[in-house]
Amino acid sequence: MYQASNIQRGRSPVARQEESRGESSGEQSPVSIIGAGIAGAWQALLFARAGHKVTLHERSDADMLASTSHWAGGMLAPYCEAEGAEPVIVRLGLRSLDLWREHFPQTPFNGSLVVAHPRDRADYDRFARMTTGHRRLDASALGEIEPALEGRFRDALFYPDEGHVEPRRVLPQLHARIAEAGGTIEFNSAADASDLDGIVIDCRGLFARDAQPGLRGVKGEMIIVETAEIEFARPVRLIHPRWPLYIIPRAEHQFMIGATSIEAEDNGVSVRLALELLSAAYAVHPAFAEARIVEFGAGLRPAFADNLPRIAIEDQRISVNGLYRHGFLLAPALAELTLGYVERGVIDNEVMQCA
Ligand SMILES: Cc1cc2nc3c(=O)[nH]c(=O)nc-3n(C[C@H](O)[C@H](O)[C@H](O)COP(=O)(O)OP(=O)(O)OC[C@H]3O[C@@H](n4cnc5c(N)ncnc54)[C@H](O)[C@@H]3O)c2cc1C
Repeated sequence: MYQASNIQRGRSPVARQEESRGESSGEQSPVSIIGAGIAGAWQALLFARAGHKVTLHERSDADMLASTSHWAGGMLAPYCEAEGAEPVIVRLGLRSLDLWREHFPQTPFNGSLVVAHPRDRADYDRFARMTTGHRRLDASALGEIEPALEGRFRDALFYPDEGHVEPRRVLPQLHARIAEAGGTIEFNSAADASDLDGIVIDCRGLFARDAQPGLRGVKGEMIIVETAEIEFARPVRLIHPRWPLYIIPRAEHQFMIGATSIEAEDNGVSVRLALELLSAAYAVHPAFAEARIVEFGAGLRPAFADNLPRIAIEDQRISVNGLYRHGFLLAPALAELTLGYVERGVIDNEVMQCA
């Protein structure tokens, strides 16, 4: 899966601890993880399942309203993201799909669809050229797999191997599995890395700017609507000249419509953007006009200047951050990399930086 030139081996924190004890005790090192958003939750899950003594600290309560993860769409779409993202996102994203399947076999992998109106045809063709892993569907094949779109578009791109999760449901499920695997989760527990012993993994997202000064927030606005008139089995992306617009089906007849990508750090939703998102949904299917608006909101994506994720290592202090618009897609693969470093000293130079 990984190219050998990206990989290097050093002494792992576990090996160093065993050396300092003068023997291999067989005991696993305690691991503290700060932040129970999608990045921290996957770290906690994989470390707990590997037998480490894990404590996951989360500053807020179990509703996780302060986390960026609460606002996410939850698409697991490495093929579609290849249109605008670096190859490393696709590489880690494909590995993450395997990890979602392995650790969350119930994750829906119904694929995703990309559609366009005739005026955006050139951008649609470009999207098809820039991405792989898709089949072209004509209008009747589109109607067969997604009946609500029958007769609405002359064709579509179908990415059959992509998946999606519902962030507000999958986070509590992840937290429950961490506990089942023997990990401890402490909500309402604002932790400070300097007070913690052993291995500490900082997954505080945008709140980690004290330790990661290069972080910035990239605003994403979203709307949740409810209608029983339409059913989708998978996310539908609409080619749009400004934003990567999408409609994601959720439980109880709800749909998340998102998302903008704006260099701003407030969490308000502007009228202009609300109009654009709602018009886009209406253009995909006119029944959205009768949908009930459930919620407007915005989250700030934690990003470094290059919009790439980073695992920064300073001895036993590890920071996992900068997941930008790919947190649900990348968190499993990043957790696997961190575990590989802690247990075996494996360093992936494309993602990891050692002090
Ligand atoms: C509108 C929108 C749509 C998106 N759609 C997608 C998508 O479809 N697919 C995808 O892969 N990604 C998507 N993303 C991106 C994704 O949401 C982020 O990449 C991801 O949520 C970042 O997760 P995180 O765990 O790093 O940070 P967060 O989710 O912010 O978690 C950090 C946690 O740390 C906690 N914390 C902070 N300080 C402390 C402390 N001192 N002690 C304890 N806890 C602390 C916070 O309370 C918070 O819960 C979207 C984002 C937005 C805004």
